[in-house]
Amino acid sequence: MSIDTSRDRSSALSPTDQVARTPAIQTKFPAVGTTIFTVMSGLAAEKGAVNLGQGFPDFDCDPRLVSAVTDAMLRGLNQYPPMTGVPVLREAIAAKVQGLYGHRYDATSEITVTAGATQAILTAILAVVRPGDEVIVLEPCYDSYVPNIELAGGTVVRVPLTPGSFRPDFDKIAAAITPRTRALLINTPHNPSGTVWSEADMRRLQELLAPTDVLLISDEVYEHMVFDGQLHQSAARFPGLAARAFIVSSFGKTYHVTGWKVGYVAAPATLTAEFRKVHQFNVFTVNTPVQYGLAAYMADPQPHLTLPAFYQRKRDLFREGLKATKFRMLAGEGTYFQCVDISGLAVPERDLPEAEFCKWLTSEVGVAAIPLSAFYGNGFDQKVVRFCFAKKDETLNTALGRLARL
Ligand code: PMP
Ligand code: GLN
Repeated sequence: MSIDTSRDRSSALSPTDQVARTPAIQTKFPAVGTTIFTVMSGLAAEKGAVNLGQGFPDFDCDPRLVSAVTDAMLRGLNQYPPMTGVPVLREAIAAKVQGLYGHRYDATSEITVTAGATQAILTAILAVVRPGDEVIVLEPCYDSYVPNIELAGGTVVRVPLTPGSFRPDFDKIAAAITPRTRALLINTPHNPSGTVWSEADMRRLQELLAPTDVLLISDEVYEHMVFDGQLHQSAARFPGLAARAFIVSSFGKTYHVTGWKVGYVAAPATLTAEFRKVHQFNVFTVNTPVQYGLAAYMADPQPHLTLPAFYQRKRDLFREGLKATKFRMLAGEGTYFQCVDISGLAVPERDLPEAEFCKWLTSEVGVAAIPLSAFYGNGFDQKVVRFCFAKKDETLNTALGRLARL
């Protein structure tokens, strides 16, 4: 059979092919653009600035961890793992949580390995929040919480942390609880403020929630970055909280591998069962060799036990250098973030909105930062910006040298 090549391509198209068009869709997130972390990292790269904006280390992880993952790959552990996570990793997590916080989670029915904390939080919210349910967030808060609640059809109830100190205001939290409140999201150590909840704070929360059916989603990804001898007050330490909590953590933060995106959720069996119903249709499973590698690496507790001292030294180096500037430092109790008030700077740009100031700082001073306004629904501007000090000493020193003129 001969093929007629005389006709051009357009005339070969049927009338419906010729009107091919992408249907218009109504955005689910009219107010959402690219996250500030991506925007500032892009600007920092473009301007050759030191990137103290987005939170991630600029140093590598322990080569033993890379070897452990490589070994798993070479051993052929490259196919789908169990939906809930590989048993050795779930056992290692359960043992670590028990050792640190005294609560024994059953590795089979109460621990689930996730694709980072971001997926863990979204999946927990999708599992329990129905249209019309209210979910309380404490602002400023991590940027994924609010869109996650909205995706589930929930109503976001924003309660401010105390301005200036960023401490929880339990009277305001209590006043926000209604019969429709399904869950409360907390985050300690806190991104962006660097504050850490005390034992008294957690006891107060336990008392507050005791007479209610409010679930707790406790974002504890910075659990090993608590300084000056303070202890991380995991919800797992408080039976009344643990019984109603999804506790979320992330190996990315603890082991300097933010790009690996592996974390976990610990929750009572009934909550875990609901979590897994969503998880299995959300990601189904999480990277197999990384899970085996993490499990092997966790046999040595030194990496997480030495992390507070490791980051405390960097915090001290960074804070010491900032003393030579007119930035006013806020809390530095935990996380790898340091917030500073810019209102006392001698430059006119101090009067710019925080986001504009951060762009100026990146472009003209050569140091990227994140505006606190990015962590508020209404863009609240308090003249505070966030630096990340999870960087090599030389990176921090270069940044401090540039900031010294402010
Ligand atoms: N919660 C907070 C408070 C964070 O700072 C981060 C870091 N991006 C996450 C959750 C997400 O962690 P992961 O990278 O493991 O998804
Ligand atoms: N958690 C990190 C931060 O707060 C980065 C998160 C992200 O890039 N989405 O900077």
